[in-house]
Amino acid sequence: MSFSALGLRAELLLAVGEQGYTEPTPIQAQAIPAVLAGRDLLGGAQTGTGKTAGFTLPILQKIAEQAGGGRTPIRALILVPTRELAAQVQASVYTYGKHLPKIRSLSVYGGVGFHPQVQALKRGIDILVATPGRLLDHLSQRTVDLSKVQTLVLDEADRMLDMGFLPDIRKVLAHLPKQRQNLLFSATFSDEIKKLADGFMHEPLLVEVARRNATADLIAQRVCPVDREKKKDLLAHLITTGDWKQVLVFTRTKHGANNLAEKLVKSGIRADAIHGNKSQPARTRALAEFKAGKIKVLVATDIAARGLDIDELPHVVNFELPHVANDYVHRIGRTGRAGSTGEAISLVCVDELGLLRDIERLIKREIRKDVVPGFEVDPRIRAEPIVQGKRGAQQQRRPSNAPRKSGGNRGQNAPRQPAARAGGRNSRDSGRRAFAY
Ligand code: AMP
Repeated sequence: MSFSALGLRAELLLAVGEQGYTEPTPIQAQAIPAVLAGRDLLGGAQTGTGKTAGFTLPILQKIAEQAGGGRTPIRALILVPTRELAAQVQASVYTYGKHLPKIRSLSVYGGVGFHPQVQALKRGIDILVATPGRLLDHLSQRTVDLSKVQTLVLDEADRMLDMGFLPDIRKVLAHLPKQRQNLLFSATFSDEIKKLADGFMHEPLLVEVARRNATADLIAQRVCPVDREKKKDLLAHLITTGDWKQVLVFTRTKHGANNLAEKLVKSGIRADAIHGNKSQPARTRALAEFKAGKIKVLVATDIAARGLDIDELPHVVNFELPHVANDYVHRIGRTGRAGSTGEAISLVCVDELGLLRDIERLIKREIRKDVVPGFEVDPRIRAEPIVQGKRGAQQQRRPSNAPRKSGGNRGQNAPRQPAARAGGRNSRDSGRRAFAY
């Protein structure tokens, strides 16, 4: 199928062509006609599927069809969980809309000045991309008017709920006109997501595309068993011997991310960390340097990495496995995006075997194990509980052996739990078990 068969305007087709897209992705092929027809839509699609263009293109078309000129009210509101995703989505709005008669878009998120956002909002915005917290600040200061919004998008809704944004989302909804189109995108459909959708959507069309964790054909996944103390050396070894140019590395904590980036720099590898404790300018700079190839390694926590769209990222490394198995899928989805191939390597020590099993159960396949010569595991080393770091309390993660809600997500009102003990389900005997796959 071609883009032109979807009923998009010539200006949008031109922009899409300039991006090198030859045909719509499955989510685009289904979502674009439905959104153009004015339907509510529940999109089961995670990042990497092309979902952003799936909602951005029809929204642009609908706004372009309305008479413009003068100071226009906000007609589309796109809510996203993170600052990076806000900037990313707005960049897409700009890219796809650049041949249309002037359509103004803006992203508002925390960590940067409030006043410049107020000034930009005053000038008139057609499409607003926002994180819920900063948007509420604007609403309470009456610096934004959402009363003319025609289309609402909740992007990565599961992640917004994970991050505890449900009350904020509900408050934002109260500022929107009742008559509007609603689009909700989520990688998973947990009970909370279904409840949220039931509450405000009107007979939504359900569009689901194959989840990457089910297919993941483009991502070569492997586990490198290694002793916990040797992970840093193994990572440096893999980067150097593989002559890797760009690798995104995940740690569980912000502290761990800083620590690892510093160690890599000390061993002569250009690296930086990106996480929620860093200022927004520092995050933006680290990402820009990483994209430009000035730094080879970007060490990130799960939350900070959401929304990072780096074209054809060749390597993703799980320096530590996530406590929530679903985060593994999000992490490895950073590579092998939209048609390119990628490699996802997990450095797994004896403490993490339970977490590994949770992940393999979720993705319904066993991940290949490759021992790197010189880094064979010492069978005498016993599992230890994965203790919270100094900043571990901020992890906000559910232990892998805690009761699981449908879809694998923690309910936003569930109590914050301390980090998992070693070995997930096997935590009680983890201290006695030796490393074995
Ligand atoms: P998303 O899932 O929206 O985060 O998009 C993931 C990546 O896919 C982005 O880098 C887009 O530029 C790319 N992309 C989106 N649509 C297409 C398409 N039709 N063909 C090829 N790449 C695409």
